[in-house]
This record gives sequence, C-alpha cells and structure tokens, in this order.
Amino acid sequence: MAALPVYRWRLAPDGYATRRQLRAQGLRPGGQCVAAQLERPRRRRGPLVAYLYRIDLAKPVRPMTPGRWAALAKANTARRICPACRTDAGYVIPTSLGTCVTCAYPGADSAGV
Ligand SMILES: [Zn+2]
Repeated sequence: MAALPVYRWRLAPDGYATRRQLRAQGLRPGGQCVAAQLERPRRRRGPLVAYLYRIDLAKPVRPMTPGRWAALAKANTARRICPACRTDAGYVIPTSLGTCVTCAYPGADSAGV
C-alpha cells in the first residue's frame, strides 16, 4: 500500500475534505479510498489523525426515494394543519401560537393588518 500524503492540521490542500466535511456538503466518500491524512500532534499520545477524501470523487448522499419524499411531505403537511380550525394554513403552524395566525388573531384580516 502506497504511503498516504500527510498534511499538518488545518493545512489540508484544497479539494480534500474529511468525511464529516463531505457530509456537511451533502456528499459521501462514495467508495473511494482515503486520499490523504491529517495529523495533529498531541502531547504524550500519538497524533490525532483525520482521513481526507477527494471532493471531486465524492458522491451525493443517498438520494431521496419516492417513499421518503412522501413521508416527508406527510410530516410537513401535518405541521401545516391548524389544530383549531383543522385547515391547511399553507405554512407551518408557529409553535409559539399553536394555531394558525387567523385563529390566533381573529379579525386580523378584516382589520387589514
Ligand atoms: Zn386555524
């Protein structure tokens, strides 16, 4: 196995990211091998090592399936239903109000607010 390039902590070259950094961008290593490693020296113990992956070889995280979209839509719809008037408010019911704005502030519409 070829030796991996080792970089000092915070001096990682552009185009490389840790698994966590990839995840933050909605990416995953996608089966590629570790491309490089970062080492942060620590006192009395071995260095802290982080593995880097090439961003250009990373793949998007598991795409949403129709089932997952449906489950998400259902959850979002439930959060838009006002518990007081049982209608779809068209937006997520604010937890601070607990009901849709129309129920929370009756007459707000007619008052032109
Ligand atoms: Zn309501």
